Amino acid sequence: MRTLLATELPDIWERGERQHPLDRAITLLATACPEKERDELVHLSIGQRDALLFALREMTFGREMQAYTECPACGAQLEFKLNIEELLRGYRTLDGNGKITRLNSYNIRFRLPDSADIAACINSGSIDTDKELLKRCVLKITHNKKIVAFDDIPEATLSTLIARMAEADSLSDIQIALSCIECNHKWTMTLDILSFLWEELGNQVMQILYQVHVLSRAYGWFEADILAMSSWRRQYYMNMVT
Ligand SMILES: [Zn+2]
Repeated sequence: MRTLLATELPDIWERGERQHPLDRAITLLATACPEKERDELVHLSIGQRDALLFALREMTFGREMQAYTECPACGAQLEFKLNIEELLRGYRTLDGNGKITRLNSYNIRFRLPDSADIAACINSGSIDTDKELLKRCVLKITHNKKIVAFDDIPEATLSTLIARMAEADSLSDIQIALSCIECNHKWTMTLDILSFLWEELGNQVMQILYQVHVLSRAYGWFEADILAMSSWRRQYYMNMVT
């Protein structure tokens, strides 16, 4: 993995803004992880993908994340810090062979959903995308040593299976427990590293483009030449003209 360069960030941003978040994550990682094939990235589970996004975030902006939210009860603005090392502690996932879980006397082997599975479910037009996703990821079901069809599993068992899948891929659903300092209301917030990192990168792109605007007006330099400078040097020239 490597950091994203100022010369490529505006293009990545422009492309990613028009994409579905599933594709946006792959756009980011395809540039940051040239050692991985695109197909390999698409078939990472969501937790595995997000582990890479956390690593990219740490490499780009550091380990500490400054987060903001609003209390759903009183509307107070809440500011808090998250640490990537702590979030990734105890990280669990599965390899491609999946896992067998026993639920209500059914033995179910499943693999973890990946970006391609989720995209296929969205595009299928199914009204029950959770069930569609499970159907794709359940590899084998036996009951009293006999093979059972997916459609014959009770609905309640399927609901538990969704929870088991999320537990098996611990970064796929990160819940942060919060407490309001104003009214003491307690709630949990989902942490989506993709949207968090995308917003930070967006701010960085806006800052870089502003520098291009100022420096090209002041010196007549071309965008490509300004982007190719180190951030230190861009800032140095910025200090002289502003
Ligand atoms: Zn509150």
